[in-house]
Amino acid sequence: MKGQIMSYPLTTNAILEYGNRVFPDQSIISHLPNKTRHQYTFADLYKRCKKLSNALVNTFGVKPGDMIGTFAWNHYQHVELYYAIPGAAAICHTINIRLSEQQIEFIINNSEDKIIFVDASIAPMLEKMASLLVTVEHFVIINASDGFTTTLPNTIQYEDLLKEVSDDFEWIVVDENDACAMCYTSGTTGQPKGALYSHRSTYLHALSIMSPNAGCYDANDTILLIVPQFHVMAWGFPYMCLLAGAAMVLPSLNLQADAIIEMLINEKINKANGVPTIWLGVYEALKKNPPKEKLALQEYLVGGSALPQSLIEGFERDFGVRGVHAWGMTETSPLGSISRLQPKHKKLSVEAQLKIRAKQGIEIPGVELRVVQEDGTIAPRDGKTVGELEIKGAWVIDSYYKTTSREKFSDDGWFKTGDVSTIDADGFMEITDRTKDLIKSGGEWISSVALEIAIMAHDKVMEAAVIAIPNKKWVERPLAGVVLRDKDKKVTPEELIAFLSKNFAKYQIPEHYVFLDEIPKTSVGKFNKKEMRRLYAEGKLSRST
Ligand code: AMP
Repeated sequence: MKGQIMSYPLTTNAILEYGNRVFPDQSIISHLPNKTRHQYTFADLYKRCKKLSNALVNTFGVKPGDMIGTFAWNHYQHVELYYAIPGAAAICHTINIRLSEQQIEFIINNSEDKIIFVDASIAPMLEKMASLLVTVEHFVIINASDGFTTTLPNTIQYEDLLKEVSDDFEWIVVDENDACAMCYTSGTTGQPKGALYSHRSTYLHALSIMSPNAGCYDANDTILLIVPQFHVMAWGFPYMCLLAGAAMVLPSLNLQADAIIEMLINEKINKANGVPTIWLGVYEALKKNPPKEKLALQEYLVGGSALPQSLIEGFERDFGVRGVHAWGMTETSPLGSISRLQPKHKKLSVEAQLKIRAKQGIEIPGVELRVVQEDGTIAPRDGKTVGELEIKGAWVIDSYYKTTSREKFSDDGWFKTGDVSTIDADGFMEITDRTKDLIKSGGEWISSVALEIAIMAHDKVMEAAVIAIPNKKWVERPLAGVVLRDKDKKVTPEELIAFLSKNFAKYQIPEHYVFLDEIPKTSVGKFNKKEMRRLYAEGKLSRST
C-alpha cells in the first residue's frame, strides 16, 4: 500500500523558491576578481535567476537536457548559474579550471556543452582551444572590465544578456530524477569521467549537510565558501545555504591566506570550508601575525585530503577555532562522512578525542559505508580490519556519464571508492591508504601513471615511477624515480620539468627527482610503489633536488 502523501518534486527550483520565500533578506557577498566587493540578497538572486533562465530559453534556445558549461570562480554570478541553468531544465556542467588543457578540451567535447559561461580573467585558457570546441555555440563573459577583448567566438557579456530579458518566467518543469548538474572527476588514470547529479540527489544532499550531526548550519551562520564552485558543486554549499538561510561569502580568486583572513575579520565569518592546504596556510599566517581581536570563526570544515591532527590541535589551542573533518568524492556529491564527537566521547582525554576527530568520521544520513576485504567479505567494525571502502546512498552515482563500465561498482550495486579504510565499533571510518595510483596535492589530483608515461617518453629515460611524498603545505607532492637509458647521458630535473610542461599543468609536474639504478618491482614485475614509499620514509630515496 502506498502512503497518502503529495508528490512534491525535490528540485533546485524548490530550494531557490524556499530561500526566496523564507529568507529573502539574507546576504550573498562576493569578493570579485577585480577586488571589489558585491553584496545582494536571496531575493535579488531569485529575480536574476528568473532572468537568466529566461535568457537561456528565449535568447539562446536552450532545450531540456542541454549541457551548459561554467568556467568560473566562486561568486554570485556562478551561484545564479547553479540555479538558473537547472531552472531552464538544462544541466549545469562546472568545468574544473585546474585540469590540464587536454583534459578541459576532452570534457567540454565529451559533455557537448552548448554554451560556456567564462570568467574574463581565465578566458585566455579557453581561447587556445576554442577552435576544437565543436559543440559550443556561445561564450558568455562574466566580470569583464572595460576594454576587455577576447578571441573567443560568439561572445556576449553576462550583464548584457540579462539586460534584455524580464524576470517574468516560469521554471521549465522537470522531474526530480532529471539531471541538474555535472562534474567530471579527475581522480582516474584515464580520461576524466562525468558524475551526473539529479535534482533530487542535490536537494537531499543539501538537507543532509545542513543537519546537526553533519555540517550543522542555520540562519545565524555566515559561511565562507572556499571550496571551488568548479569542483563537486562547491560541496553543495550554494544549495544548502538557501535551505539553511545562511549568508554566503564567495572569495573568487582571492584565495591567498592574507585575503582569506581579511574576509574572516571584515565579514565576521563564523563557518567556512576548504581543503587542508588552505587552512594550513591560514593557520601559519595567523601565527605570524595574530589578529588583534578573537576571530568570529568558530569552525572550518575540511575534506578532499586528510585533515592533520596537528592542525586541528594547533588551530584550537592558538585561536579557539574547531576543525571538522569530512570525507567525500565527486561521485558522492560529495559528502559521505563527517567526524564530530559524540556524548560518549566527552569523558575521553583530549588526546583520545583528537584521534577520533582526525578520523574521516561517521556516515551522514542518506548514505551507508562498508569496508570490503580482499576475499570479498565485509570487514568487521573493529577499527583494525582494513579493506576497500564502499558507499551507497541517495546521492551516490549509479554509473558514469556516457560510460558502461561497471568496474567501480560491486555486484550488489555499491560504489567502490578506491580508498582503503577501517570502520570502528562507533562507526567512525578512517582512511589508511588508497588503491588509486594518484597523488592529491593542494586538493587537486595528479595521476602518477600519466606522469610516468610522459617521463618515459623522454629519449634519455628508460623507466620512471612516481609516488606521493608528504608535504607540509600541499599535503602531498609527486616524486619521480628515474632510471636512465645510459648512465653517461644524463638528464637534469629542469630538462624533465620543461619536457613535462607541454602536457601537464604546473602544479602536476614533480619538482623532486631521484635517479636510480632500477625501480623496485613486485613479484609480477610491476613498479613496487609501496616499496618506494617505504624507502623514501626511511630516507633511503634521497632526492636529487
Ligand atoms: P575527488 O573526487 O577529487 O573529490 O576526490 C575524492 C577522493 O579524495 C577520495 O576518494 C579520497 O581519496 C580523497 N579524500 C577526500 N576526502 C578525504 C579525507 N578527508 N581524507 C583523506 N582523503 C580524502
